Amino acid sequence: MSTAPSGPETHQVALIPGDGIGPEVTGAALQVLEAAGVSIRWEEVEAGAEVVQKHGSPVPDRALTAIRGSGVALKGPIGTPIGEGFRSANVTLRQSLDLYASVRPVKNIPGVPCRYQDVDLVVVRENTEGLYSGLEHRVAPGIVESLKIVTERASLRIAACAFELAEREGRPEVCTVHKANIMKLSDGLFLECARRVAREHPDIVHREIIIDNCAMQLVRDPSRFSVLLLENLYGDILSDLCAGLVGGLGVVPGANLGDDCAVFEAVHGSAPDIAGKRVANPTALILSSVMMLRHLGESAAADAIENAVHSVLADEKNHTADIGGTATLDGVTAAITERL
Ligand code: ATP
Repeated sequence: MSTAPSGPETHQVALIPGDGIGPEVTGAALQVLEAAGVSIRWEEVEAGAEVVQKHGSPVPDRALTAIRGSGVALKGPIGTPIGEGFRSANVTLRQSLDLYASVRPVKNIPGVPCRYQDVDLVVVRENTEGLYSGLEHRVAPGIVESLKIVTERASLRIAACAFELAEREGRPEVCTVHKANIMKLSDGLFLECARRVAREHPDIVHREIIIDNCAMQLVRDPSRFSVLLLENLYGDILSDLCAGLVGGLGVVPGANLGDDCAVFEAVHGSAPDIAGKRVANPTALILSSVMMLRHLGESAAADAIENAVHSVLADEKNHTADIGGTATLDGVTAAITERL
């Protein structure tokens, strides 16, 4: 994992506003970070479906260079142009920077309506291979093939990430989610690597669960889970499911971590249906910037923002439409900055 400097200083951070609601929610996060008094020099770069015409790619080299240069980025959601010819912009970014670990903490926020209480888990998803390797071809008319790539190297490092996170956060267990009963070689290797890493962490319980059973157990009682370790596709699907357990995509933050770079972004996409209306919930991206501050060693500012978000969302008049209210993005953002 990339390490970060600590202490009072100006941090250099790349900023990708992104597509759809991206510029709105990143704008909100910037206001909140400024109100918290953190000194950040932003290098704004473009990426996403809307810049393809200009740069010929949804992930221009300039964006990659900026992130490599600072080692840290805050990113709004980016889309991929529809149709053939472009790989997913998010997958390209994660593979280019080798951001192999997607870490998504899923926790109740007091006052945010949802079906479950006592949810406090972290989804740790392998981010660079599996079925998202982009290796697909037409075998014959009417027959296509998608390749699921699983390597020992990637499986061992994501398992290490999950167990080390459990140790760091005092979490009692890691649960590896798989379908090795059917995909004996690919998921079998992922599971075997998790078992090998588990043996190096005897204080952490290692549980194994088949993905379909895991989906059912999560909706019955999510409090039974603490750290979920998953390959790419399963992690993509279950992290949206887990977001739904605590109020939806508008409130769950995330980080994509590699050895050299870290990119912080919400779980949600560009939400084209509400883009430009200034009704998006900025909470997920604001909490992603809280994760970023902790990574930068700014834990006091991180705590201050998290507390402000919690106290603002405790009052339902600050709830946006996605969590059942009528507040606007600007209204919630102003309430948080005032609280700071
Ligand atoms: P992607 O493929 O990029 O994940 P998607 O359309 O499948 O895109 P989202 O863009 O995350 O997924 O949107 C899913 C639904 O959640 C949409 O109805 C969207 O309006 C809603 N949504 C997502 N993020 C937010 C947010 N921050 N605030 C309010 N609603 C949101």
